[in-house]
Amino acid sequence: MEDLKRKTDELKKRKNAVILAHNYQIEEVQLIADYLGDSLELSKIASRINNKMIVFAGVKFMAETAKILSPEKRVLLPRLDAGCPMADMITEDELIELKQEHKKAKVVTYVNSSVGIKAESDVCCTSANAVSVVKNIEADEVIFVPDRNLGTYVQKMVPEKRMILFEGYCYVHNKIKKEEIEEMRDIYPEAEFLVHPEARMEVINLSDKVFSTSGMLKYAKESNKKQFVIITEQGLIERLKRENPEKEFYPAKRPKICSNMKRTALIDIYDSLKKDQYEINIEESILKRAYNALNKMLKYI
Ligand code: SF4
Repeated sequence: MEDLKRKTDELKKRKNAVILAHNYQIEEVQLIADYLGDSLELSKIASRINNKMIVFAGVKFMAETAKILSPEKRVLLPRLDAGCPMADMITEDELIELKQEHKKAKVVTYVNSSVGIKAESDVCCTSANAVSVVKNIEADEVIFVPDRNLGTYVQKMVPEKRMILFEGYCYVHNKIKKEEIEEMRDIYPEAEFLVHPEARMEVINLSDKVFSTSGMLKYAKESNKKQFVIITEQGLIERLKRENPEKEFYPAKRPKICSNMKRTALIDIYDSLKKDQYEINIEESILKRAYNALNKMLKYI
């Protein structure tokens, strides 16, 4: 392992590349990364840095987002089979049909979506700013895709808008049950429960605070509390423990694992750098439209 790490580092320097890894990646990948974060944080970093090559250890829509924001750079996704089932739940034709059915509505799209879906949208949002984007968009009706759970949470926070939700969901967050939260409350009565808004409303309602992954990291670091139950993918818990060794972090009963996020291993990063694989290429007109939707998000937050 040490040898592979060293060889990966050498190759990275030789190719003037940077390794970005999502918070849900396995630990050996998190530890080789130059930057760790959530998808949008990483894409913003991608557009700021001078390196010509980016190896994105995450899932496909994240590497695409980095490419949309930095079209002049080479963006590599180490595993072709690292997709996001939620992003794949909606097709462009389905979104176009929804737009035709609700002509007055604006489309707000969660960044966990393909480049083609972003290109068909008015504006993108993240789990951290979805409430603010929907609240501030100039429309009474909003088509929200693809995550119905995040959409349901946003609808609760912004009751004045009529939201048309698509039936997509993240299988990792969607399977968390309210009974698990109740059981964990009995086991850790002092703990604070932090939940990601991709979870179902019944789970959100039983939690203390709703946060994106970056929000959870910030809150746990600054809070005086010592014990937390973290209701999201397991990878974040590893990072929280590493960065806050004096505090305790527990998953919601059993660890929640996104198998797509765990596909990338150190050897894949090494192969990616060695063979320049797998490069993300996006047709220019689609990239521009997707860029507009992403860029517009900044206006509403
Ligand atoms: S955790 Fe959920 S939203 Fe994230 S990549 Fe996995 S399936 Fe997609």
